Amino acid sequence: MGSMYLAECRCGYTHEIHVGKGAMADSPDLFPFFCDQDGLILVNVEATRLRCPRSHCRTSRIRSYGRPPISPMFGKREQHGDRALTLSDNLCPACQQMNLNFSLIGNFD
Ligand SMILES: [Zn+2]
Ligand SMILES: [Zn+2]
Repeated sequence: MGSMYLAECRCGYTHEIHVGKGAMADSPDLFPFFCDQDGLILVNVEATRLRCPRSHCRTSRIRSYGRPPISPMFGKREQHGDRALTLSDNLCPACQQMNLNFSLIGNFD
């Protein structure tokens, strides 16, 4: 079972994301990353090489949420497999400030 989060910033940016793995055996194990070109993206962390999923991009120069420099070193976090999502003060893809918060809004199969 995976988790659904609402990513929200005080600048007005909101985006619903899936984190973790669905019930289907072939479902991807998703975690949020930051791409300089595409902002907040969801990446299958089970892949051998982690890349931006956008077909025009596919860069491997992506940075994981939950660790610096796009998330703070300390703060409340929720574990997903071997990664942890930092809930407050993450990099916002819209205003580029460290004001993006993730709140759990549900689960998905
Ligand atoms: Zn990209
Ligand atoms: Zn913002």
